[in-house]
Amino acid sequence: MSNETRRILLVEDEKAIRDAVTAYLERENYWVTAVGDGQEALEEFSKHHFDLVILDLMLPRVPGERVCRAIRDNSDVPIIMLTAKGEVEDRIIGLELGADDYLVKPFGTSELLARIRTALRHSQRAAGTHNNSVQLKLGLLTPTCSVVCLLPQVQFNKFGLAALVVPGFIPFGALKRSGKEWS
Ligand code: CA
Repeated sequence: MSNETRRILLVEDEKAIRDAVTAYLERENYWVTAVGDGQEALEEFSKHHFDLVILDLMLPRVPGERVCRAIRDNSDVPIIMLTAKGEVEDRIIGLELGADDYLVKPFGTSELLARIRTALRHSQRAAGTHNNSVQLKLGLLTPTCSVVCLLPQVQFNKFGLAALVVPGFIPFGALKRSGKEWS
């Protein structure tokens, strides 16, 4: 994982938990913005970029379910939900709303840290997969382009212009047609 500081939005109305988790995560070199209710959470999320959200389910003003849904409507940021009861229904609600993971209170800070690292790794891998698929496509295009460039000048002119319009697809078509017309 890169050394850049990851930004975490912590939403927890119990001050003792909020302060303890903030202090712990800051010691682990995360940048933490801690808020005590759902309304503040949505305001912070709309103003700043966060790499991960830790979200309590039972919150004043705007409940955790609504915060989770509102965030998920706009973002794929990993969300770890905190639930006081740990009842199956609460966990299912959290996951159905789009949370990536949940943690039952009381929880150990080291367990929270492990969940955070896993969630960040997954989101980074998802982003990496996306990049790799782009690289793969570009890699496929490279040999095609070099073959097109090796063709005689008259063919290069004919299809070089088209290749500028739709790079990647036209060269394939151009090669097929060149096979018919010049072989
Ligand atoms: Ca709460």
